[in-house]
Amino acid sequence: MAKLCAAGIQLREQIDDDYPDRDRKSDGWIADARHLAKASSDHIPVDGIVRALDIDADLSAHKEEAYALVEKIRKCAKRGDKRIKYIIFDGKIMSSTLNWKRRKYRGPNPHKSHFHISFTTLGDNDGKWFDLEGDTNERTQIDGGKLGEDIRSGGPSDLPSSRARCKCDCECRSSISLA
Ligand SMILES: [Zn+2]
Repeated sequence: MAKLCAAGIQLREQIDDDYPDRDRKSDGWIADARHLAKASSDHIPVDGIVRALDIDADLSAHKEEAYALVEKIRKCAKRGDKRIKYIIFDGKIMSSTLNWKRRKYRGPNPHKSHFHISFTTLGDNDGKWFDLEGDTNERTQIDGGKLGEDIRSGGPSDLPSSRARCKCDCECRSSISLA
């Protein structure tokens, strides 16, 4: 059975911790079977690993909060967390191209109801804590750098694969749904 990469599990855990009441309707990670045959997408498992995560933009907080969270993830990537490959939200894509500058996203789905995060192969087994606030040094002093380990999930077994299919039309899905 396919599983979400360790980095994806960790990032989702951190978001769940920060926004326990968030709406998860537009969450997703694995492409459903119908979509596996065609197209390429980080939602399609490669060697049993899915390297993409969708997070519902409704965080049950102020509407701007989703932008703030995406911005934290973007800055974390820009600071050098190479597990993050790219992010798409609200008509913009952010990647190492142009040093994580926001660029116009030209896919058919502008990603307004959720944001998409793709991970590199570096995140396959690396589930260390994401330094979203940019305060690694402080935390290292306080917690001996072991944070992150404490809040990892038990593994992919708690992921309801049948219901957690990707609802987005990231690059991958566009060609499928038109087929
Ligand atoms: Zn997606």
